[in-house]
Formats: sequence, structure tokens, C-alpha cells
Amino acid sequence: MNIHEYQAKQLLARFGVSVPPGEAVGTPDEARAVAKRLLADGHARVVVKAQIHAGGRGKGTFKTGLQGGVRVCASADEVLERAQAMLGQVLVTRQTGPEGRVVGKLLIEAGVRILREYYCAVLLDRAAGCPVVMVSTEGGMEIEEVAARTPERIVREWVNPTLGLQPFQARKLAVALGCQGDLIRAGEKLLLGVYRAWWECDASLVELNPLALVEGPAGRPTLLALDGKVGLDDNGLFRHPDLQALRDLAEEAPLEVEASHHGLNYIKLDGSIACLVNGAGLAMATMDLIQHCGGQPANFLDVGGGASVEQVTAAFQIIMKDPNVRAILVNIFGGIMDCDVIATGIVQAVKDTNLKLPLVVRLEGNNVRAGKQRLKDSGLPILSGDSMADAARTAVRVAA
Ligand code: GDP
Ligand code: MN
Repeated sequence: MNIHEYQAKQLLARFGVSVPPGEAVGTPDEARAVAKRLLADGHARVVVKAQIHAGGRGKGTFKTGLQGGVRVCASADEVLERAQAMLGQVLVTRQTGPEGRVVGKLLIEAGVRILREYYCAVLLDRAAGCPVVMVSTEGGMEIEEVAARTPERIVREWVNPTLGLQPFQARKLAVALGCQGDLIRAGEKLLLGVYRAWWECDASLVELNPLALVEGPAGRPTLLALDGKVGLDDNGLFRHPDLQALRDLAEEAPLEVEASHHGLNYIKLDGSIACLVNGAGLAMATMDLIQHCGGQPANFLDVGGGASVEQVTAAFQIIMKDPNVRAILVNIFGGIMDCDVIATGIVQAVKDTNLKLPLVVRLEGNNVRAGKQRLKDSGLPILSGDSMADAARTAVRVAA
């Protein structure tokens, strides 16, 4: 699960990471009010930042033609104007795809004078089997680009998960960023906080890009998280009801949200052959087979081992809402599940949803004879596949 920048910054602040003062708003008037307050507090500039679950906002473009999802403003009226132009509009960035994302909220933040932009992230190094903290002097640009062009400018410290990030490691990273004097301590504190946030929230990623060296009070340089991205591990979310509450359904694919309400594991893909399968492994194998036969799967869909008639119907309804779908392939291996129950569900769902798309069904396993008979008796134009390969070939053929 991803969260917004303003939520990530609130979270990081709880772990002692310095972030600029600011507030998230949903209307232009609120934006102006927050801007007024920040200006009255002595900040010379106010930044308006579009809140969407995608990066590259600074260089993004609104579908209205307006440039930039991050804008530095000098007055409360300018903030009002910007907020009016951004809220409710679609922002397209390198990470959103051409369809873009609707901006529902803005972060109104104190503007700072940036001296340097760095990069900092904590994630799991799967190859090393432990957390890794990464920093780079090349902040503000995509880390993939830095890794490709100047990999030597990325410095890593691997963390023993039992001990956690050690202060000496954090200081080493701060020195690698070029910190000197008091800034080494400040960097150490910030990095320890970022690591602790990653660990205690069961995050999969915490990324500050940029982590900025800015002109602080009395002209002294300080470190500040100017951007914050936090990805949370869905499998750890049950331990964090406070983090679950940060979920923004407007940022998730609508069909995937609907599927989750029915306890279905559905992931939308770009192909034309929808699959409905019981078991994640079989679903993956089915998708492989579709590709092997020259087709493209429209989705991953695992209805689980004990799907009910309601779930199968919901699954068909979700599949049919995808306009790219040209054929449906049902692949069920009845291990525990009774094939006759599944067949009943399929027949019911086809009738309930008034399905018009070609449907190929491959059933195997427990009580398969009765199941196949039921499909036949229904009088529906269901194509049956005797083997998995046979069913996949048929689905690819009818989809074409
Ligand atoms: P992203 O483009 O979605 O990654 O959004 P960021 O939050 O990283 O903002 C993009 C860029 O805007 C940053 O790299 C900064 O250069 C700039 N920016 C963000 N906040 C401020 C600020 O407070 N003051 C100034 N001058 N620039 C800022
Ligand atoms: Mn950024």
C-alpha cells in the first residue's frame, strides 16, 4: 500500500525526521489560509504540491496544459490561484502513464532555500537478505538513472536486522554525502529516524528524494526531507490499524478495489484474455500458457480454494467491466473444491451477468464428471477444454 507525501512526512516526523512545516488541504480557500499562516510565521515562500501516488510531479503536466505539480509561490493569492488550477485536474507524470491521476489534495508547505539535493532510501535487499540504506549525492533525479550512469555515486550500508542501523553506519553515510562538523550528527539522527520508520511501520520502501541541505535559521545549513515516499508491506498492515486508515482508494485501480471487497485476488493487466482460476500458482501457470499460445492475459485472478457462487459471479462481473477482454478462460483444478459446485457457480454467473463473451472452461479433479455434465446440460455456449493447453489454445483462438 502506498501513502501520500503529506502522510509520509507526518509519519517521518514522528520518528524525528525534520520536514518543512505544512498542511494538506482539499479546497483553494484552505490552501490560501494555510499559506497566509506560513507567510505570517516568517516564511518568504510557500510551495504548492499536488498529492498523487506517483513521482515526477515537479516535471509533470496537467491535462489543462498547466506545467508542474510542484510550484513555489510568493503570496497567498498566488497559492489560491495555483490551488484553483490544480485541484480536481488530471496530472500526468513519467510515473502515472498517459491517463494521469486526478489531484484531490494539495500539500501547502513552507518554501525553503535549497543548497544541495541528496537521495536517501531504505529498502529490503533481497539478494543480501537484509535491509539496506542507500544514499547518493545525486538527489532530485530518478535513482534508476543515477544507478545506470554513475553507480559509484550510490553508497550503501547493509543492516543487521537484529541490531538495526548502527550510529557509526549512519555517520558513514552522512560523511559520504559530504556532511562535515555538526551536520554529521544531524545526518546521523535523520538516517536513524528514517531507518526506524521503515522498520517499525513494516514498510517496504522509505525514500527521500530529495533529502535537501537547506538554509536553516540564522543562515546555518540543515537537513530536511523535502519529498517523502513510503510504501507499506500489505502483509504487515494488520499490525498497524493507524496506517491502514491512510489508504486512499481513489489512488487504486477501481476494479482491484471492487475485487478486494469480494475477497478476490485480482490484478488488472493489459491483454485480452481474462482468466478465472483457483490458486495463485495455477493462475500464474495459466497466464504463462496463454502467452505461450500467442495470447495476452487481461488479468490475474485467483478466486481461492473455496469460492462461493457469489464470488464467482462477482469475478465475472469484474472481468466484464474490462473493455479489453475478448474471451474468458476458466481454469479450475478441484483439489478440495467440488467441480460440480464450480460448474453451478459458472452457469449461475453466466446467466446473472448475461455474458456475451466467449467462455472456455477447463475443469479437472474432484467430481469433474458431474461438473462437466452440468455445463453441458445448461445449454449455454460454453467451450470446454480437455487439458490446460487445449483450453489455452481455444481461448487464444476465439479471442482473435
Ligand atoms: P516529485 O517531482 O514528485 O519527486 O516532487 P518533489 O517533492 O521531489 O519536488 C520536485 C522538486 O521541487 C524538488 O526536487 C525540488 O527541487 C523542488 N522543491 C520542492 N520543495 C521545494 C521548496 O520548498 N523550495 C524550493 N525552492 N524547491 C522545492
Ligand atoms: Mn521527489
